Amino acid sequence: MNDKVHLGHTAKKRFGQNFLHDTYVIDQIVASINPRKGENLIEIGPGLGALTEPVAACLDKMTVVELDRDLAERLEQHPVLSKKLDIHQADAMRFDFNQLIKPNMKMRIFGNLPYNISTPLMFHLFQFHENIQDMHFMLQKEVVQRLAANHNTKSYGRLTVMTQYYCKVTPVLEVGPEAFRPAPKVDSAVVRLEPHTVLPHPAKNLKVLNLVVRNAFNQRRKTIRNSLKKVISVDDIAALGINVSLRPENLTLENYVTIANFVTDNPMQAAD
Ligand code: SAM
Repeated sequence: MNDKVHLGHTAKKRFGQNFLHDTYVIDQIVASINPRKGENLIEIGPGLGALTEPVAACLDKMTVVELDRDLAERLEQHPVLSKKLDIHQADAMRFDFNQLIKPNMKMRIFGNLPYNISTPLMFHLFQFHENIQDMHFMLQKEVVQRLAANHNTKSYGRLTVMTQYYCKVTPVLEVGPEAFRPAPKVDSAVVRLEPHTVLPHPAKNLKVLNLVVRNAFNQRRKTIRNSLKKVISVDDIAALGINVSLRPENLTLENYVTIANFVTDNPMQAAD
């Protein structure tokens, strides 16, 4: 059997198409999303509708953003879904999600994301965090481990810090390759991301926080005394009450924001 053909559609690798077909897994995901009538549900990459159909069954209307023109057209022709879906044939990475905001109804976004774009897509979505209630995503299992990591662990990195800056992270479910057609080479997992209503550690300047975190983790094995020397002096780190001999994975989100806010107020003269 050609495992690339599912429900008459040949999976396109460039769009990261691995279609869910395991009904137990699909039911578990829908139960964890728990869609309710009247809510503003938005699916990224509905594909052949494996998640769309059961989610739409709980709702009168929902929105989908699908890049593949063939799949978007299929959904437009779908006997049941076409009436319920507001279909945007578009690239979710460039999509302005603000256009989907409804009065007094935050967005609930979900999707079995194409793994090749999952990280930049999440960063794109974080821009809309104030208007998002929650997000449920199927991702590569390793990525979910990184999102949910605690400091002092190997999985803790830039993705952890920047995600936890915006969201509470809860791993929901692990999923093996056999749940998809074609089967991916990696294990997968579903994660729930709930944007904080009030950021617990707000940065004065997000670009600076990004710069500090990137510098630190670009040289994972170095102590922050070395990896951050272009942005902050050793004495200033120490004065903030942070041990300069720590490595990037030992610093908490709060530590990073403390350093970034100091750097925002006291930028170093440009160094090479
Ligand atoms: N939701 C379906 C399922 O679970 O079976 C399909 C999941 S498949 C892993 C990813 C889906 O995202 C595909 O339908 C693909 O065409 C779509 N996609 C890929 N890149 C996209 C993008 N940049 N914006 C929106 N959709 C995209």
